[in-house]
Amino acid sequence: MSGKPKLRVATTSLAGCFGCHMSLLDIDERLFPLLDLVEFDRSPLTDIKHCGLCDIGIIEGGICNAENVHVLYEFRRNCKTLIAIGSCAITGGLPAQRNHLDLGSCLTEVYLTEPGLAHGHIPNDPELPLPLDKVHPLHEVVKIDYFIPGCPPSGDAIWKFLTDLIVGKTPELGHGLIKYD
Ligand code: SF4
Repeated sequence: MSGKPKLRVATTSLAGCFGCHMSLLDIDERLFPLLDLVEFDRSPLTDIKHCGLCDIGIIEGGICNAENVHVLYEFRRNCKTLIAIGSCAITGGLPAQRNHLDLGSCLTEVYLTEPGLAHGHIPNDPELPLPLDKVHPLHEVVKIDYFIPGCPPSGDAIWKFLTDLIVGKTPELGHGLIKYD
């Protein structure tokens, strides 16, 4: 175990599928040395509800609703370095395919007119975050420091990227670690 103070890392999934988080876990037994170097703040891997002051924030998923925007601003305020991980965070990804459709028609089809629905209604509880008209990549809303492409990026790419960053190097994904699918 190193004597250096651990870096604090927050992660979240916005309009994502948790696949990028699963890829983070794909570093397998390298999680143990990672945990010698970092501690996790808000993350689906912890029970912390809000992002505190952190060295690194990692966000999968684009922005599809009002709550996503609040969480993204919280991460940008509190994280020195903010990373968009995966195609959804970088371009909107597959969820952005809804951008050429009318949002009202989508909601009507899914909740009101889809065959087999009984007494359907479009959910309108104020607890629910309002959907945005379009799905947006993160950099359209806040400044992003780094992008890790892939759907999802491989565990090896995430490991290389994080270990570079943790030792103070500019992260570089060499041959075989960059992909977009
Ligand atoms: S980039 Fe791919 S794996 Fe990552 S959240 Fe989006 S759909 Fe899931």
